[in-house]
Amino acid sequence: MTNKETIVVIGAGVIGLSTALRLQQTLHPNQSILIVAREFPNTTSLNYASPWAGAHYRPVPARTAQAAREERQAQRTYQHFKTLASTEPAAGIQALDGIEHLENPPAEYLDARTVEDFFGHLDGFRQLGPSEVPAEVKWAVQYKSFAVNSPVYCAYMLRKFILQGGQTKEYTLADAREAFHLADGAVKTVVNCSGMGFGDPKSFIIRGQTCLVRNPCSVTLTRQNSDGSWSFCIPRPLDGGTIIGGTKQPRDWDPNPSLETRERLLSNAAKWFPFAPGSEGKFDVIRDIVGRRPAREGGMRIEVESIAGNQCIVHAYGVGGRGFELSWGVAEDVVALVRERGLVRAKASL
Ligand SMILES: Cc1cc2nc3c(=O)[nH]c(=O)nc-3n(C[C@H](O)[C@H](O)[C@H](O)COP(=O)(O)OP(=O)(O)OC[C@H]3O[C@@H](n4cnc5c(N)ncnc54)[C@H](O)[C@@H]3O)c2cc1C
Repeated sequence: MTNKETIVVIGAGVIGLSTALRLQQTLHPNQSILIVAREFPNTTSLNYASPWAGAHYRPVPARTAQAAREERQAQRTYQHFKTLASTEPAAGIQALDGIEHLENPPAEYLDARTVEDFFGHLDGFRQLGPSEVPAEVKWAVQYKSFAVNSPVYCAYMLRKFILQGGQTKEYTLADAREAFHLADGAVKTVVNCSGMGFGDPKSFIIRGQTCLVRNPCSVTLTRQNSDGSWSFCIPRPLDGGTIIGGTKQPRDWDPNPSLETRERLLSNAAKWFPFAPGSEGKFDVIRDIVGRRPAREGGMRIEVESIAGNQCIVHAYGVGGRGFELSWGVAEDVVALVRERGLVRAKASL
């Protein structure tokens, strides 16, 4: 044992890595961070969601407390992505035009106040007129968005964490409380960014199938179809191809890509998305992607659980389908909770 105190972060997905990086800004000199995870960037597993994500930034307006909380987290992440895109190209985050075409817009999209609350912070935001969109589109907008090459971004964050003195350990925990025993130094705080949590009955997966193609596209376009389903294309920065999506299938455990789904995604993409000349509806497929979004009824669990003595577990799991878009806001919320308890320094060193 050393005199050092270790904060253990469980999980090396986008939530664990963002939280660990944000925590590094507030450590006391005698504190360090250890990330313990079953999977790290550069490994692939169906149950490790982050490398499979699109991922782009797109507001999701709704009039619920969960949507309002997520929106606050999203807006802080937008600012963070803006800084990274302009200062750290190796992070794999790129500013680009985001376009949305809705055929059958839900009520919240038609309410001016809600649109302002959810879209007002976006650079270059404007509603598109009928002459700018296909005839069947009833609601359309354009704004500055960000595309994230998810495996590159996760690898970048891990590298940065280690360069700043962070430690890692590959280990599969049976229970979050095991983490108190895995560091050389004393552990008072464990941050649980395990995606699904440990046996939480509210946790569930949302299966997603997408298709990664070589064909380049310069914008991210999201389309809501007349039947209520959604289609999207997301270019992956640093020449990583384009993601064509996608499905959202709650509690579907099928690990295999469906060929039928792939054909539907590609035929919709050929109709709707502005691929570079030369594509003509033909796609050069790199691979099908199947991933499991770690969701939770009622939204993400962000709360402190006191354990015997002066130990605590700060839970941060169940982010669902927007882990990248909410990541930095979530990390800040977690650090605020840890700070309130006096477990790290009050001021961040940036
Ligand atoms: C097809 C698809 C498209 C998506 N598109 C987008 C998008 O456009 N925008 C967006 O923001 N998000 C998108 N997502 C969602 C995004 O991928 C998730 O929200 C995000 O990756 C969740 O991150 P996480 O860190 O909570 O979980 P994960 O990435 O799953 O990481 C969990 C970590 O905890 C570790 N862990 C779990 N259990 C244990 C244990 N028992 N012991 C030790 N370690 C453990 C794992 O090894 C891993 O390191 C998409 C997801 C999919 C599948």
